[in-house]
Amino acid sequence: MNIEHQHSTRDDFLDEGYDLSWAFEEEHRAWRASISRFCREEVEPAAPRRSIERRFDPDLVRQVGQTGAFGLLAPERFGGGGADLRSLCIAAEEIARFDSSLAVTVHVQAIAIALLLNLASDRTDLMDEVVPSACRGETFISFGLTEPSGGSDAGNIRTRAARDGDDWIINGAKQFITNSGTPFSKYVILFCATSGNEDGRRPPVSAFLVPLDAEGVTVGEPYAKTGWHSSDTHPLFFDDVRVPNSALLGIEGRGYRAALAFLTWARFPIAAMSAGLAHGCLTDALRFVSTRESFGQPLGSHQGAAFQIAEIASLASLARVMTYDGAWKYDHGQPIEREAATAKYIASEAANKAAYLATQLEGGYGFIEESAAARHYQDARILTIGEGTSEVQKLLIARGLGLGV
Ligand SMILES: Cc1cc2nc3c(=O)[nH]c(=O)nc-3n(C[C@H](O)[C@H](O)[C@H](O)COP(=O)(O)OP(=O)(O)OC[C@H]3O[C@@H](n4cnc5c(N)ncnc54)[C@H](O)[C@@H]3O)c2cc1C
Repeated sequence: MNIEHQHSTRDDFLDEGYDLSWAFEEEHRAWRASISRFCREEVEPAAPRRSIERRFDPDLVRQVGQTGAFGLLAPERFGGGGADLRSLCIAAEEIARFDSSLAVTVHVQAIAIALLLNLASDRTDLMDEVVPSACRGETFISFGLTEPSGGSDAGNIRTRAARDGDDWIINGAKQFITNSGTPFSKYVILFCATSGNEDGRRPPVSAFLVPLDAEGVTVGEPYAKTGWHSSDTHPLFFDDVRVPNSALLGIEGRGYRAALAFLTWARFPIAAMSAGLAHGCLTDALRFVSTRESFGQPLGSHQGAAFQIAEIASLASLARVMTYDGAWKYDHGQPIEREAATAKYIASEAANKAAYLATQLEGGYGFIEESAAARHYQDARILTIGEGTSEVQKLLIARGLGLGV
C-alpha cells in the first residue's frame, strides 16, 4: 500500500485547527468559511469591550440572525437551514474562538428551536407562528429546566403545572436560564411536574411553551457572572401562571424523557465551544510568545514556553476530535450516549487547562480582561458546569460501563 502522507501546514492548523477533513462534507466547509469570515469581521473586533462592559449586544444578534445560525437545525419550510449537528458545532466552535457569550446565545436558541420542533412538529399552526421568527433570531426561546434546588438531579422538578379545566396553572421557579431577559426573549420551554406522586415516585414531567409576558411570570435580575459576561442569564418565577392546554408540548408526562434525549446530543455544541475556546487560547498565546521578549530572546524560544504552547495545541486538538467524532456519529444515526458524555467532559476540561496555560504564559497581561486569554479563562469555567457538570458526565460514562452509580 502506497500512501502519501500530507501534513497540514502551520497556517492551515492555525486557521482551521486539527485536520478533520474526513468529518466534513462540502456544505460544512462552505458554512465554516462563511461563519468564520463573519466572526473575524463582526464578532472579534468588539468582543473585549462587550465582555468588559457585560453588554449583551442586540445589534450583533440581529446580524447573527442574517447568517442563519439560529435556525440551522430547523427544516427549510420553517425558515431554517435544514442542516445537521456538525453545522451547529461548526458555528459554536468558530464563534467561541472569539466570544463564548455569543456562542452560548446561538447554541441555546438553536437547540431550543430543535427541541420545540421535536416535541410538537405536528402543531403546524404553532410552528408557523413561532419557528420562522425564532430562526431569524427575532424571538428567543429559552430552555427552562434547572431549578433552585439543583440542576444535576434534573428529574427532581418542583415547578408544578396543575390542571384547571381546559387550562394549566403553573407555580415554581427556574434558575440560570439563558436568553430569558433579552429584547428578543419571548418564550420559555418550561419543564413542570404534572399530576401527583401518590405512589411516592417522582411525578411525571411535561413540557410547556410559556410566553414570558404571561401574567404571573417574573424575569428576575440578571446574574452577575464570572464569565459569559455578554450572555443573558436570569432566574424565572411563576406565580399562578395560567396557560391554555395548547401550551402543552408533546405528550403529557413525557417531557423529561424528551429533555434527556435532547440534553444528550446538545452536549456536542458545548464540546465544540470548548474546542473553539481552546483554539482561541492557542492563537492568542502563540501571538504573545512570538512577540514578547524575555531574557534577550522571544519567549517562544524558551523550551518551557514552547512546551506550554504545544500542550495548548494538543488540548485544542483533543477537544476538536472528540466533538466531531461524536457529532459525525449522531449525524449518521449511530448511538452517541457515551460519546456525548465523554466529549463534553474531555473537551470542557481541556478548554479549562488550555485557558489556564494561556493566561500563565501571558503573565500579568493574561490577568487583564483586554487579553483574549483572560476572557477565555473566565469563559472556560462554566464549560465543565453548564449542561451537565463533569461529575454528571463521569456518572453517565461509568453507568454505561455497567457500574451501579
Ligand atoms: C451561566 C449559566 C447558564 C445556564 N443556562 C441554563 C439554561 O439555559 N437552562 C437551564 O435549564 N439551565 C441552565 N444552567 C444550569 C446548569 O445546567 C446547571 O448549573 C448545571 O446543570 C449544574 O446544576 P447546579 O448548578 O444546580 O449544581 P448542582 O446540581 O447543585 O451540583 C453541585 C455540585 O455537586 C456535584 N454533584 C451533584 N450531584 C452529584 C453526584 N451524584 N455525584 C457527584 N457529584 C455530584 C456537581 O457536579 C457539582 O459539582 C445554566 C447555568 C449557568 C451557570
